[in-house]
Amino acid sequence: MFVLEKIREYANTDRLALINREETLTYRELDEFSDAFAAYLLERFGDDRSPVVIYGHKETMILPCLYGSLKAGRAYVPIDITVPGDRVRQIIEDVEPEVFVDFYDLGIETDAEVLSPDRLGKILRGQSADGSENTDARPNSTGTFDIRKHWISGDSVAYILFTSGSTGKPKGVPITCANIENLYSQLLPWMEVSVDKGVILNQISYSFDVSVVSIYMGISKGMTLYTIDKAMLENMGELFEHLGRSDCCFWVSTPSFAEMCVPSAKFNEALMPGLEKFLFCGEILTHKLVDELFERFPKAKVINTYGPTEATVLVTAVEITDEMAKDELQIPIGYPLPEVTFRIVDAEGKPVASGEQGELLIISRNVGPGYFKRPDLTEKAFFVDEETGKRGYRTGDSCFEKNGLYYYCGRLDNQIKISGYRVEIEDIENNLVKCSNIARAAVIPVYEGEKIAYLAAFVLLQKPDGLGSLKRAIKIKEELKEFLPSYMIPRKILAVDSFPLNTNGKVDKKQLRQML
Ligand code: AMP
Repeated sequence: MFVLEKIREYANTDRLALINREETLTYRELDEFSDAFAAYLLERFGDDRSPVVIYGHKETMILPCLYGSLKAGRAYVPIDITVPGDRVRQIIEDVEPEVFVDFYDLGIETDAEVLSPDRLGKILRGQSADGSENTDARPNSTGTFDIRKHWISGDSVAYILFTSGSTGKPKGVPITCANIENLYSQLLPWMEVSVDKGVILNQISYSFDVSVVSIYMGISKGMTLYTIDKAMLENMGELFEHLGRSDCCFWVSTPSFAEMCVPSAKFNEALMPGLEKFLFCGEILTHKLVDELFERFPKAKVINTYGPTEATVLVTAVEITDEMAKDELQIPIGYPLPEVTFRIVDAEGKPVASGEQGELLIISRNVGPGYFKRPDLTEKAFFVDEETGKRGYRTGDSCFEKNGLYYYCGRLDNQIKISGYRVEIEDIENNLVKCSNIARAAVIPVYEGEKIAYLAAFVLLQKPDGLGSLKRAIKIKEELKEFLPSYMIPRKILAVDSFPLNTNGKVDKKQLRQML
């Protein structure tokens, strides 16, 4: 696979692959540590190809685990620490891994071999568990076997990302090596910067696919990943210190992260003088943010991209011009990348005229194989295009096209984006009823302009709890933490005596909204 080839190529230089606070990882170390991890997998589990599940955040040693899995011909499943234990357990049950790398000692009961950071450290350094040198685990240094023949390639799955599922359980989206290779060749021109190699931001969690831009494209270009972790996001002083120190030339994030930085007057060209490009993906890029960035970073280009995880990160790109920024229309999501075909269709599946809204279908070799172990869901959302024979994906996004440019107009279903995270409303509702005294629940997103400001939940109690609304909300939120990551927990939780119903007999969310 291209990224593994490139790591090996740069391993002959002193170049840094990663800066993570005070820690660094050179390309040489990345190559050696990932070899050692691959050797461990191959020696311990032979030809077993089950995915490796990795629970952590931005730990330095995650990268060798990701590439080491690929080197051993296996997929990896990254799970960020925002995901609570109960959901991690569900994912592990689904994936049935042989190895679970747990950077946070979650203590989950599993048949998989659990690697703590300590044990992992020994494996990566080529030591056996008792600390003695284990030369078998260093295939390169000893040349005992040719690890390259195990490297992942073609249609083998490289990673599986778990995203919110409407049943209340996360659903897995596998992406193949070939899918990522397509994206790499399509995206390279957008990644050009004037400096040789340079520094790229490593802020997006590995369990969210936009991180692929850094860990596949950035690494393949020999760039240095500069890590921004969760703790930095919680301390603006520290965050700006790191942004200032990063020497970053390529910014990649959701608009939400940039919006978090904008309230500070320090967020400008003086802080990051070498910044040449902002690449956004994952949610609506607003006029407001574009205007701010144009003013504060006059030399930097702003690129908007769009895409669902199912079609490998992103399938459009466009550099935002002054004209687009001034246009009354929303900021466009871009032009389809080369070899990507878009079709916009009406509810009957018939193509609509240019300028008219409809559901966006993506037809491309970037479209992944379908949902993990969910043929029912795969059949609904994926198809093979009769004209081209390529795979297609029904995005559920309402879009229109004008002069070849595409514009996003919201979802056709109950999927939302909150702070850049993709969430199915039913996922929250189905987890709310797992709480002790809740019979039914309905969740609605509350908008501020184009973006969701917060979520509100209405709940029907099984029996009176004698609590005031504030205490009840705190109690429910506390329980919900066991099942859901914090960004999925509604800010407002209100108890109702009954749910208003619409003419179809469904909960009338419009009426609920008026009760806020
Ligand atoms: P994810 O799979 O998490 O990347 O989420 C994919 C969904 O995010 C898409 O189907 C869209 O609804 C939304 N999305 C992604 N990129 C953009 C964008 N540039 N503008 C608006 N919405 C976007």
